[in-house]
Amino acid sequence: MKKEKGIPWPPPCRIKENARAKRVTLRIVPEAGLVLTVPRGFDRRCLPRILDRHRRWIEEGLAGLEARRSHLSRPDVLPERIDLQAVGTVWTVATLPGPPGSVEISWRHRPEPRIRLYGDLSQVPLCCRLLRRWLREEAKRVLPPWVDALSRETGLSYATVRIATQKTRWGSYSSRGTVSLNAAILLLPRPLARLVIVHELCHSRHLRHDGAFRNLVARHEPDCRRLDAQLNRAADRLPAWYRASFW
Ligand SMILES: [Zn+2]
Repeated sequence: MKKEKGIPWPPPCRIKENARAKRVTLRIVPEAGLVLTVPRGFDRRCLPRILDRHRRWIEEGLAGLEARRSHLSRPDVLPERIDLQAVGTVWTVATLPGPPGSVEISWRHRPEPRIRLYGDLSQVPLCCRLLRRWLREEAKRVLPPWVDALSRETGLSYATVRIATQKTRWGSYSSRGTVSLNAAILLLPRPLARLVIVHELCHSRHLRHDGAFRNLVARHEPDCRRLDAQLNRAADRLPAWYRASFW
């Protein structure tokens, strides 16, 4: 007997209309599941046939997503400590079971850095999102002074620092002088986090990644090529709780 796959058919999907789309495209997106982009005015009665035609691909994709999701929802994804390697601080994470339905987070810096999660700890992705919120607050506290110190050290200027927690980029620099940093750089080894900041500051002289830009980065970080290669691989090595926070 064939095992039930557990994916309802037709599967739930999100439909986005796009005026520039010429045909229907299907994507499987971690946060949203199956997403269909359709041309404007598309006749939705055609959808079941399109879904049927790609049934195998959709079922496999959604099953893979489900497997990853349950993997990242395991209780052991919740960390006991969080090492902010970039700034050399280790935080303990204390968990205290509480009533179902909600989770609260609080933290203190003294006497030793400690985060407390209280509530329904079975809601692992929610706990991880709260930890990501803490990380952003901590980054707002420690990264701007670091940017300032590196700006003085290198003589490269900027106007403001913005902290975000995106999934895909470490940082950016706007033509108005805003250095945007991903709070997750705190989870990286210090030289990698420093390179991210130096890289963004170098954009104050050259907005594009041309030869002049690379020379400038190399002047302030002689080891930049090796570090850049490490940085490219670092996203996959971020702790499981951080990745789970995007579910
Ligand atoms: Zn850049």
